[in-house]
Amino acid sequence: MTMLALALGAIFLLWMSVLLAFARPLIARWREPVLRHPILIIESDDWGAGPLQQAEALTRISAVLQRIRDRSGRPAVMTLGVILEVPDGPRIAATPCTEYHALSLTDPRFDPIRAAIQEGIAANVFAPQLHGQSHYWPHALMTAAMNTPAVRDWLTNPEPAATEDLPSHLQSRWVDASSLPSHALSPDAIQHAAATEARAYQALFGSNPQVAVATTFVWNDAVESAWAQSGVEVIITPGRRATCRDAAGHPGCIDAAMLPGERSLAGQTYLVRDVYFEPTLGHPPQRLVDGLLTRTRQGRACLVETHRFNFLQALDASLATLEAGLNAALAACPDLRFITPLELARAIQNRDPNWIETGLKPRLAAWRARLDEIPRFRRIAQLTGLGLPLALLAHPV
Ligand SMILES: [Zn+2]
Repeated sequence: MTMLALALGAIFLLWMSVLLAFARPLIARWREPVLRHPILIIESDDWGAGPLQQAEALTRISAVLQRIRDRSGRPAVMTLGVILEVPDGPRIAATPCTEYHALSLTDPRFDPIRAAIQEGIAANVFAPQLHGQSHYWPHALMTAAMNTPAVRDWLTNPEPAATEDLPSHLQSRWVDASSLPSHALSPDAIQHAAATEARAYQALFGSNPQVAVATTFVWNDAVESAWAQSGVEVIITPGRRATCRDAAGHPGCIDAAMLPGERSLAGQTYLVRDVYFEPTLGHPPQRLVDGLLTRTRQGRACLVETHRFNFLQALDASLATLEAGLNAALAACPDLRFITPLELARAIQNRDPNWIETGLKPRLAAWRARLDEIPRFRRIAQLTGLGLPLALLAHPV
């Protein structure tokens, strides 16, 4: 009997030491709010100034979204990460390629694109958010153009350019990646640029940007601080923050990880977008269902990243895949709700009882489902037998 008590005591101590070793991520996931309903938001980047065929794509996406409704009657929501300018190719070519000139989204040739965006907003299917004045740092692009003919050609193209065609590292707005590894921009330059783009956004949409998503997910504290001064309340993240482009050109210098609902130093709410759905890359409709089910078990919203290029390269096929995915998600989760990131972030911050779970059992089950994502924890929990009592949390008796 004494031996048994000793053995049980030893196991208990072992479990306690594992829980203590992982206390920080375990507590963070306990404090993270648990959502009451499945939530699905399609997050789509790169829209705005650029190829004129966007107008048709946006109009047809809007029509698809309006056909798909949750049980409250609300249509599916797609965020539009908006870009406010592209290069003015002919003017840059005339300098020749020594001065940067921009073609603004306010230019009359973009009238059909702006109209399509506004119609989708009025129909409650589009939620615009700030992606950037440009999908690059203009000075970095001009510097790179001096010894990269492909960048020079891209800058001087007479047609409104597609930023997807730029080398990936040059698509980051908030670093100077004209040489690698990238160099940080001065806080003053960031501050000035963020204020300018907030004014441009306000002129277009009638309000300051409230949600921002950095191009290529490279940004830093200085950007968040500048965004805060421009009225940005919510930052869309992939769950971590890269602050540079490394020597190979990849996003690097990761200095922070974030869970949904956590706050930035400047006070914004972070949301996490971590399901990738690019139909032209072969992602099937089921991907939306799988992503939604996993995040619903975790008590989280499913934010799905997709890009404009799907709808420019293969509009019919991408629309069909998107519609099939949304319908399959509704079939799998009939209680699914469509809301905007801004509404979601405010519900989280206000602990809105319509959206945030307060019951102990569902909170425990969601917490348990979140633990598998903590590096090494799952394996150690299995090895020590701690997984058994934790599994009971997911299926309370
Ligand atoms: Zn982008």
